[in-house]
Amino acid sequence: MLSDVHNHLYAVEDPGAVVRESEQRGVGLIITNAENVDTARKCLELAEKHEIVFAAVGIHPEYALRASESDLQTIEKMLGNEHVVAVGEIGLDYKFAETAEQRDRQKLFFRKQIQIAVDYDLPVEVHSRRAHKPVLDILSEYDVRANLHWFSGPMKDVLRGVDLGYFFSFGPAVLHYESYRAIVDVVPLEQTLLETDMPVRFGGEEARPWWVADVAKFIADVKKTSVDKVLHRTWQNARRLFRV
Ligand SMILES: [Zn+2]
Repeated sequence: MLSDVHNHLYAVEDPGAVVRESEQRGVGLIITNAENVDTARKCLELAEKHEIVFAAVGIHPEYALRASESDLQTIEKMLGNEHVVAVGEIGLDYKFAETAEQRDRQKLFFRKQIQIAVDYDLPVEVHSRRAHKPVLDILSEYDVRANLHWFSGPMKDVLRGVDLGYFFSFGPAVLHYESYRAIVDVVPLEQTLLETDMPVRFGGEEARPWWVADVAKFIADVKKTSVDKVLHRTWQNARRLFRV
């Protein structure tokens, strides 16, 4: 079965049609990730409607700069819903936070959301841009299960994430940047997941969940194993991490 553990299903024009085609093409699991309270509600609606869809709800670091305490409480209230399988996407994005004050605000929201994930025994879906070291520093303060989505290195941070036992979800970007070969190689298959970050575009086209088949092919090639093994293992990993 194909699994796409990190995308934004609500952001495509016709989510229902994407889910139907995903099912036809062998996708058995889609985790749609929120960016703020509004999109968290959309994720929840989609997860309630479609059997293969589950929700990660949380406040993205870009939105942490303008979100409020009450937004966090709204997110927390959603965590009891059986269709919510993670807190996400959360993390640090220093592209959007240039001042020390903005970075502190992102860190505060990151910490608070990791804590509620721990309280509800849920994993976190982590976004990290230009902030890999502080992301790992903060995550490692908690006993939390984590998926590092679209994590690009440097290699020493990848190795640290592997050592800390975190999962890494790889998407179509691996097919476009040669530097991913070395990263995919050092992340054990036992910690590897598949994603698309739909609706991000690759080669001018919006990604779709079934594209993970090509990502699995790439991983199989790097790791000198079979595509079937990669698909089986990533499916099992997703089910174990998100308990679906
Ligand atoms: Zn995302």
